[in-house]
Amino acid sequence: MTMTTASKSAELLRGGEWLLKDTSADAMFTPERLTEEHRLIARTAQQLVDNEILPVLDRLEQKEWTLSRQLLKRCGDLGLLGADVPEAYGGVALDKVTSMVVSEKLSRSASFGSTFGAQANLCALPLMLFGTEAQKQKYLPKLMTGELVGAYCLSEPGSGSDALGAKTRATRNADGSFTLNGEKMWITNGGFADVFIVFAKVDGEQFTAFIVERAFKGVTNGKEEHKMGLHGSSTTPVILQDVNVPAENLLGEVGKGHKVAFNVLNFGRFKLGAMCSGGGQGAIGESAKYAAQRKQFGQPIASFGAIKHKLGEMTARAYALEALLYRTAGMIDERIASTPHDPTDGSAALAAFEEFAIEASIAKVLGSEVLDFILDENVQIHGGNGFVRDYPAERHYRDARVNRIFEGTNEINRLLIPGMLARRALKGDIGIIPAAKALQDELMSPPSFAGTDDSLLGEERRAVQAFKKTALMVFGVAMQTFGQKLTDQQEVLMHVADILMDVFAAESAVLRAASASAEKLPRASLHVDAARVFVNDAAMRIEASARQALAATVEGDTLRTMLAALRRLIKVTPINTATLRRRLADETVARGGYVFA
Ligand SMILES: Cc1cc2nc3c(=O)[nH]c(=O)nc-3n(C[C@H](O)[C@H](O)[C@H](O)COP(=O)(O)OP(=O)(O)OC[C@H]3O[C@@H](n4cnc5c(N)ncnc54)[C@H](O)[C@@H]3O)c2cc1C
Repeated sequence: MTMTTASKSAELLRGGEWLLKDTSADAMFTPERLTEEHRLIARTAQQLVDNEILPVLDRLEQKEWTLSRQLLKRCGDLGLLGADVPEAYGGVALDKVTSMVVSEKLSRSASFGSTFGAQANLCALPLMLFGTEAQKQKYLPKLMTGELVGAYCLSEPGSGSDALGAKTRATRNADGSFTLNGEKMWITNGGFADVFIVFAKVDGEQFTAFIVERAFKGVTNGKEEHKMGLHGSSTTPVILQDVNVPAENLLGEVGKGHKVAFNVLNFGRFKLGAMCSGGGQGAIGESAKYAAQRKQFGQPIASFGAIKHKLGEMTARAYALEALLYRTAGMIDERIASTPHDPTDGSAALAAFEEFAIEASIAKVLGSEVLDFILDENVQIHGGNGFVRDYPAERHYRDARVNRIFEGTNEINRLLIPGMLARRALKGDIGIIPAAKALQDELMSPPSFAGTDDSLLGEERRAVQAFKKTALMVFGVAMQTFGQKLTDQQEVLMHVADILMDVFAAESAVLRAASASAEKLPRASLHVDAARVFVNDAAMRIEASARQALAATVEGDTLRTMLAALRRLIKVTPINTATLRRRLADETVARGGYVFA
């Protein structure tokens, strides 16, 4: 089966180029544009979670790993494991929108979602993208059916974020094989996986990927970690003691392990963002139902403004996150479709994920932080019941915390967002430097943001333009001031990352709402409400981040001039978001769930 993501855009945007170029609403992929096939697979995944995973969650949390294996096989039967893998290797070769939709739906069981992610993303993808034909034939079909379980061993006790600092060693033998020694840490599926993608340094220097089977002598796993959450997912050390790995199990080239590790993480981060989005939407449903039935002072708590504010804000943030995820998936699919490629090799997908690595990091950071915000409010709406185990709110809260830690911590991903953009700018791949210079001249002239735009979302579109200029101004000044030393200014980079994330999310929300309105979709006015709330609050966040970043970059008259320019740029008149949030909240409660599902 093949599916393509509808696209009407003439020009393909490069990763990060949304900062400089406009996208028309009808060129952006949105959840509303899912095909019937996408919806079918979404329903299949949802039914699996509702009927077969959630009812056995307690057993998974008791670490009944035979059950995890059975569930992986069920995913295999239903074709959910192989969205990214061609039919020749047992997959179902669907587009990236599909693989995102599957991740989104499976997330309602975070523990099993993690088991699934380690299998379908972290183990199968490196094989698919970097494996030889023989390696793909040997391992992928069995991973696709769930007959084999996979894991990914990058982290070590002494190297997490600094993955290339790994100590695990691979010694070359005369017959071409390698002997691996070392300890990997926090390995998802570690307790029962059969195949491990292991990173080790050949002769202590060249970082390299290997395919290691549990059956190889010397492979063992340590005890299950006692974790804060994800109790239904196995996490253990993996110990390698004089493990002989045949030459044919080298994955990719010696010394090129970083390519395997980081490209897989680009995929993984994007899908993690999708999992967070799905998890957040599920929790909004729980909050809405609870708020409707819980009475205090003689009325449902859903009738109180404070609770409406929460439900409205949870919905607006979930809306923007979902918009940017689908937009990114659409861009990735367009890029793959426009690249001539042999469908049995993963090179086009690899190039597309590398191109959109900035967006993948945004999806990961924003996804995990929007989810934590929603889950925190979910606990709060549940009151005391949110703090006890009788309700799922408590478990979600614990399960989600790790999303900000694994697949590159949010600090590392925040550094990557402007870091990658700066590299592309310096190489001339993306015209940030000339755009920033032109903007500096423009900002010295009188303000060009007078008057108001009364068209639908007119003010929000204008605000997004101002956000982009703010990002360019702050980033441009930082690059000019610090040059190569900008990497030492992490505080500034964190602020720039926050601004860039808000720009991408706000624009995605506005475009999604504009297309819902243009197409006169049901609840189009609620789309507009959600986008307006998001943009209004993004303006305040962006202004605060920009002020702090500028103050940490320049001083004296230059700072005063920049702050004056910032005030002219971010001239967003606050709107009455209380009314908008109330409308979103009331509809959420009436539907008993996320308004835009
Ligand atoms: C439940 C779970 C499952 C996991 N599954 C897997 C798996 O399947 N495979 C695998 O390989 N790994 C896995 N991990 C490991 C995970 O990827 C690491 O924990 C993560 O990369 C962070 O590394 P660390 O824990 O060593 O933290 P550290 O790198 O020590 O970071 C500690 C803090 O310092 C910050 N920091 C570090 N370096 C910098 C820097 N340069 N600049 C600014 N701040 C910095 C971090 O952001 C963080 O806040 C898992 C972890 C958990 C908890």
